[in-house]
Amino acid sequence: MSTQHAAGRYAPSPSGDLHVGNLRTAMLAWLFAHTTGRRFLIRMEDLDRAVAGADARQLADLASLGIDWEIPVVYQTARRDIYRDIIARLRDAGRTFECFCTRREILEAPSAPHAPHGAYPGTCRHLTDAERAEKIAAGRPPAIRILADTTEFTVTDLLHGTFTGMVDDFVIQRNDGTPAYNLAVVVDDAAQGVDQVVRGDDLLSSAPRQAYLATLLGETPPTYAHVPMVLNPAGVRLSKRDGAVTLTDLAAAGVSAATVLSHLAQSLGLAGRGEAVDLPTLAARFVPEALPREPWLLGPTEWASTA
Ligand code: GLU
Repeated sequence: MSTQHAAGRYAPSPSGDLHVGNLRTAMLAWLFAHTTGRRFLIRMEDLDRAVAGADARQLADLASLGIDWEIPVVYQTARRDIYRDIIARLRDAGRTFECFCTRREILEAPSAPHAPHGAYPGTCRHLTDAERAEKIAAGRPPAIRILADTTEFTVTDLLHGTFTGMVDDFVIQRNDGTPAYNLAVVVDDAAQGVDQVVRGDDLLSSAPRQAYLATLLGETPPTYAHVPMVLNPAGVRLSKRDGAVTLTDLAAAGVSAATVLSHLAQSLGLAGRGEAVDLPTLAARFVPEALPREPWLLGPTEWASTA
């Protein structure tokens, strides 16, 4: 158990430049941490999909909005030994099993009675040693799954209230040996003293699994705030296809970081149209209960009058 002072964090995957939706989430994570007396950390979730140089560009973009954080920035690739030890600890405690299923087999398997829709059907849960040996001999490397002893778990979310969601035998180590996101995120939040997790609401459904895993590891699950996403006018998650959505693209179109910050603040009900703001000013106005609960629909005309 960590004895460090409570912290909040932003944990991007360095797979490319942050878009304004990511920046808005990071800004909210900073505001939640600062207005509740927490340290604020950045963690690079670089176990997969990392692109060389993307981490430095992400940090520079965050800094240009006035976001600051405690150093050092933690990189998950530097913590592989820690994940390996925790996975071994769970295995030794009888909390894991090897799974040889392909994605397709899982989709095609009849689901277990009473199992929630989409849950792992339990195929490899009770393989005999002979069956396991046969699969290994056939050359299939196993993933490692948690042997869950519940089908749901309840978390506390500052925006969604009490949220109960599915827990199944989820993967904690992929079959290429990479620790799974759901394992690494829980291990790192606990190790870093993170007791407040602010992130996009696309991850709300993952929170029960992660909180359950935290309890298996003897940790207290964090408090969550799953914040609304930024969507394009068609209601689809923002991406490169939506044109100028990163600070670099926007700067090239004549939109400064200060203008982006002002628009983000306005979208959160924290600033007037065109008002110049900085993060300490926003912190003084920040009331979590008053945050919008709907996605922010962002179209190219958002910047038209400012460029
Ligand atoms: N690295 C994840 C992402 O960029 C976020 C994980 C988290 O905040 O728990 O989507």
